[in-house]
Amino acid sequence: MKIIGANFKMNFKKDDINNYLEVIKNKFPIDNIIFFPSDLYIENFAKNNYLVGSQNISFQEFGAVTGDTSILQLKELGIKYTLIGHSERRKYFNDDNYIADKMKLALKNDIIPVLCIGESLREYENNLTKDKLKEQIDIALKDNRSDKIIIAYEPIWSIGTGKIPTNDILTEIISFIKNYINENYQINLKVIYGGSVNLDNILELNKINNLDGYLIGGATLNPNKFLELIDKIK
Ligand code: PEP
Repeated sequence: MKIIGANFKMNFKKDDINNYLEVIKNKFPIDNIIFFPSDLYIENFAKNNYLVGSQNISFQEFGAVTGDTSILQLKELGIKYTLIGHSERRKYFNDDNYIADKMKLALKNDIIPVLCIGESLREYENNLTKDKLKEQIDIALKDNRSDKIIIAYEPIWSIGTGKIPTNDILTEIISFIKNYINENYQINLKVIYGGSVNLDNILELNKINNLDGYLIGGATLNPNKFLELIDKIK
């Protein structure tokens, strides 16, 4: 069964979340779908027995980090997963500097890290995709080897833009990521794809054999449409 991550980003207020939960109630098997809502609504999903993750964790476990949320606090709310290094966090919050610390904290606390990696448009156009991925993988895995880790390959130029790589490119990059990690870290990791996945392209994406699932943003925000999308993911 494919892993499906729903990244709500900084969307929704309380009423929207209640409505969302109402719409999806009893609608699908829940053991392969992970919701990543704002921290404020993690408990709403956990209480209803959905798998839930945070979109981020603090790089420190506790203490003087104003405005951050500790993994220990998030665990109390019910997370089993956390995104680490989403490109929006890398862009706005310098998360490149904290990836290794966050990976370590997640694994230490038995939370599954969904490590987001991906190249910028400039890197893609200059044939630097693999170099960028190697660099991001090495920083994250150097001291944090675990076969629990999930890799989310998300080309930055594809997030929220409607543009996606061809199936041939994705097949090649996913196999590159898996082989590179296997050869250098002796672990086999699942790799999911994220970037403008939607109802129009999902059937084509489903043809990619080495893909273990999807991390989806915009197309999860309408619960009815998300249900349709889930139905098409095989
Ligand atoms: C994301 O931000 O992780 C993402 C995949 O977004 P979208 O599906 O909207 O491109």
